[in-house]
Amino acid sequence: SLQNVGFIGLGNMGSRMVNNLIKAGYRVTVHDINRDVMKMFTEMGVSARGTPYEVAQDSEVVITMLPSSSHAMDVYTGTNGLLREGNAIRPALLIDSSTIDPQTTRKISLAVSNCNLKEKRENWEKPVMLDAPVSGGVLAAEAGTLTFMVGGPEEAYLAARPILQSMGTTSIYCGGSGNGSAAKICNNLAMAVSMLGTSEALALGQSLGISASTLTQVLNTSSGRCWSSDKYNPVPGVMKGVPSSRDYNGGFASKLMAKDLNLAAASAEEVGHKSTLISKAQEIYKNMCEDGHETEDFSCVFRHFYNGKDE
Ligand code: NAD
Repeated sequence: SLQNVGFIGLGNMGSRMVNNLIKAGYRVTVHDINRDVMKMFTEMGVSARGTPYEVAQDSEVVITMLPSSSHAMDVYTGTNGLLREGNAIRPALLIDSSTIDPQTTRKISLAVSNCNLKEKRENWEKPVMLDAPVSGGVLAAEAGTLTFMVGGPEEAYLAARPILQSMGTTSIYCGGSGNGSAAKICNNLAMAVSMLGTSEALALGQSLGISASTLTQVLNTSSGRCWSSDKYNPVPGVMKGVPSSRDYNGGFASKLMAKDLNLAAASAEEVGHKSTLISKAQEIYKNMCEDGHETEDFSCVFRHFYNGKDE
């Protein structure tokens, strides 16, 4: 069984995911370049290591939860990276949960499949990498209710499932390497565009004289209904407990949305896909960030882009 789990990237998401792994009884070893967060974990009695390489030496499984593609590449293939001893590494399973582009995922996966295992395992010739980005955000990470979308060999997915289940409620197998990343990028593209559509409709409604609460009630019982209208309404005062009701604090930062749209744009370009809405959404969220709203939740487009009014 895979009981020794290394975890790298203890930020907003990672730190909470680690807590759930520990609760589920895994023996966890952590690393982050941020010393303060490392200190927090050592004070809790969790073993911490100075480099990804050292984490790998102690782990049968390693999970990474890093900001973006370059960080993931570095943690895997850098000087003191997970794959430093490529001809004999300890972890059999490497799971990257960062939101990165499928092309980078596939490069890392190839590098992993070129490595060998230090200790042979039954039915397990080579180390395997899964891309397993998540949907759900910080609250779901805390509650252990994330959704994982997973790419890579199916047997490895099945072996990883108990570990994923300790941090999430749902995991969906999406196919070969990079397909988890692709799913994540496409999901966030749909979310970016539907948030803009919902905000535009609610702002236009107000200009036409219908309150956002009333129009939301209509949308949510009609064909305009979506997550942005019924779970994450962008108009302050329409819904309790969402970022719009606390001045767009917390939630999913505009800069992260802009980052994910950049990934969608780059991936679309690479495969020659026509991307009308990606470019438009990318432009809007980029402007939002440049106007100083980069740390606000992305639903702030309602106020700052559409100049919508509070309820
Ligand atoms: P974060 O910036 O809070 O955390 C990233 C952590 O990685 C930081 O603690 C940082 O110090 C560490 N790090 C950076 N480079 C490193 C390196 N080379 N070695 C070791 N540690 C390093 O980010 P987050 O909000 O936790 O998000 C992580 C990933 O999950 C991102 O790809 C993000 O897009 C994705 N994601 C985030 C959310 C969300 O709501 N925050 C939701 C779904 C997916």
